[in-house]
Amino acid sequence: MQVDGNALAGILEDGFGLDLTGSRGRCAGCSGIAVLATAVVVVTPMGTVARCAACEHVLITVVTGGGRTWIGLPGLSAIEVSAIEV
Ligand SMILES: [Zn+2]
Repeated sequence: MQVDGNALAGILEDGFGLDLTGSRGRCAGCSGIAVLATAVVVVTPMGTVARCAACEHVLITVVTGGGRTWIGLPGLSAIEVSAIEV
């Protein structure tokens, strides 16, 4: 089933404590910068894959099994978040 990046909202919030779908990310494939909610997301029984809407590079993978979830960010070279005090 193909959906938009908003389908990642709950997964990313559970994993990172933030809803990142409104954040912009840089695609490692084409260097394009876009809001994560615009990613093309495919949900299958095997897992979830989010691809860049511009070049189809795999941005995010999510696999769940055995009570654990693995979130991969193979195609995001950066994610924009609010300023963090360091
Ligand atoms: Zn891209």
